Amino acid sequence: MRFTRLRLNGFKSFVDPTELVIAEGLTGVVGPNGCGKSNLLEALRWVMGENRPTAMRGGGMEDVIFAGAATRPARNFAEVGLSIDNGDRLAPSGFNDSDILEIVRRITRDAGSAYKVNGKDVRARDVQMLFADASTGAQSPALVRQGQISELINAKPRNRRRVLEDAAGIAGLYQRRHEAELK
Ligand code: ATP
Ligand code: MG
Repeated sequence: MRFTRLRLNGFKSFVDPTELVIAEGLTGVVGPNGCGKSNLLEALRWVMGENRPTAMRGGGMEDVIFAGAATRPARNFAEVGLSIDNGDRLAPSGFNDSDILEIVRRITRDAGSAYKVNGKDVRARDVQMLFADASTGAQSPALVRQGQISELINAKPRNRRRVLEDAAGIAGLYQRRHEAELK
């Protein structure tokens, strides 16, 4: 599975529809302070199911919606789409009938978040599990926050083990076992 395209609309500073093609190999994003580089990474994290406002540098989940500027009014919704090349068919069953997956998350003021995969409504959990199985995901070590390396060095062994389990792609199994035990 490989990310191929990121679309943003009304997400944080990306008020106008913006599309980024993610080519194979290394991608670098450069630009002056405050131009939105970190917002791009947050968009990736968000579309993969991040639900902690603190991870999005906000006080509430609706803070990801464009809040307005001197010359532009605020928006009522934010939407991020992430396209994935699933040519290797590594997506979990249920999502594996297509070579290209587009995950879309949209948040509307006072109405919360909704997710779609290739145009079909899905639950937040489905999207989170899709990425947990692919060893990526909103909280995976594939995305390294500022300060995260020193946190890892100082972490308790149990917490450090979770990072290794995530890298090994078995994080989704814990969630499934937990849900099975509740049933
Ligand atoms: P640096 O080089 O300093 O790390 P950066 O390129 O990472 O900068 P970001 O932190 O991604 O920049 O972008 C910050 C900008 O995004 C700020 O100008 C901030 O006002 C704007 N911003 C964040 N959230 C919103 C929002 N909800 N609505 C409008 N603008 C927002
Ligand atoms: Mg930044």
